[in-house]
Amino acid sequence: MDDDSTHRIETRAIHAGQDPDEETGALMTPIYANSTYVQDGPGDHRGYEYSRTGNPTRSDLEDNLAALEGGEFGRAFSSGMGGINTVLNLLEAGDHVVTGDDVYGGTHRIFTQVYDKYDLSFDFVDTTDHDAVADAMREETALLWAETPTNPLMRVNDISALADLAHEYDALCAVDNTFATPYLQRPLEHGADIVSHSLTKYLGGHSDVVAGALITDDEELDEEIGFYQNSVGATPSPFDCFLVLRGTKTLGVRMDRHCENASELARWLDDHDAVSDVYYPGLESHPQHELAAEQMDDFGGMLSFEVDGTLEQASTVVEETDVFTLAESLGGVESLIEQPAAMTHAAIPREERLEAGLTDGLVRVSVGIEHVDDMKADLDAAFDAAF
Ligand SMILES: *Cc1c(COP(=O)(O)O)cnc(C)c1O
Repeated sequence: MDDDSTHRIETRAIHAGQDPDEETGALMTPIYANSTYVQDGPGDHRGYEYSRTGNPTRSDLEDNLAALEGGEFGRAFSSGMGGINTVLNLLEAGDHVVTGDDVYGGTHRIFTQVYDKYDLSFDFVDTTDHDAVADAMREETALLWAETPTNPLMRVNDISALADLAHEYDALCAVDNTFATPYLQRPLEHGADIVSHSLTKYLGGHSDVVAGALITDDEELDEEIGFYQNSVGATPSPFDCFLVLRGTKTLGVRMDRHCENASELARWLDDHDAVSDVYYPGLESHPQHELAAEQMDDFGGMLSFEVDGTLEQASTVVEETDVFTLAESLGGVESLIEQPAAMTHAAIPREERLEAGLTDGLVRVSVGIEHVDDMKADLDAAFDAAF
């Protein structure tokens, strides 16, 4: 496949960066499980010297991910947080960062508990409110970090508007595209400078690997990212790269089913007596439904709903399901269920949590690719047990 850029995303997912092995003709990228490479003379290597710096399995994955996002350059990391850490490595002491008040917990933690002490400062605002974002921007603002859709209320942020705001201040706009995946939304097309992924989620897609990635169109930025990738060393093993490459091949078919199931389940929950609210960008009642319809190709596989009852009743619901496994994380083929107030967001003080809309009865689901009728029957049984 010489010119991947002319192909549609389903085709790129399977072929980009995936040329058969030149030596053996092996169709699938081999797992190059080695740390070092022979040199033909001192400094005269064949493209690889040491596997922290570069590894052929990783290179294929990086090319594949870049092609999926419609970007030129991809870099893979040993976790989503390894990639996010690398974006922060690009900043200087004294720099300021603006981000959402509902960013992923691990992102909030690295901002406030790791980089705070290196003289970086952070403002957390409602990124759907562009006046609030503009008010938070300062001369020293070097990064605007956005997620969309956000967790767990599925707020949708306007990537073009946020990128414009960032660029007014010569700041980088980075978008965490983990929830949408490039199959549904490509932030570089909307002006973002860097796309970040937890490959652990939909791109890996099978809950069997932890990995991350950064993608950009800017060569200088990519070189800087590569410098920190190699210097800090949070690089993925070739085994992990192989697993993610295996996952990306089926991204299109998996996402189609995730979206179809989530959309049907959201509508069913919306009509259910045990449920008072449903948060899904595909519902016309979602506050950013129109923006989601413009910015995304479909509405994704994540949704949250409000059990019309107590914290205990919501706990019973998540404990009693069978098709939905009680677990954190998301994006695998299997359906997962969790209660943010008692699990992913339990560290936030209750008052603050309620103010952010994270009520006791809130339940988040990662809708898998099982049969949707089995999901409905499973939830019905759990509601019966709780009420
Ligand atoms: C999981 C996740 C991360 C962190 O990724 P890891 O692979 O767990 O390090 C970052 N952002 C979002 C939106 C996530 O869901």
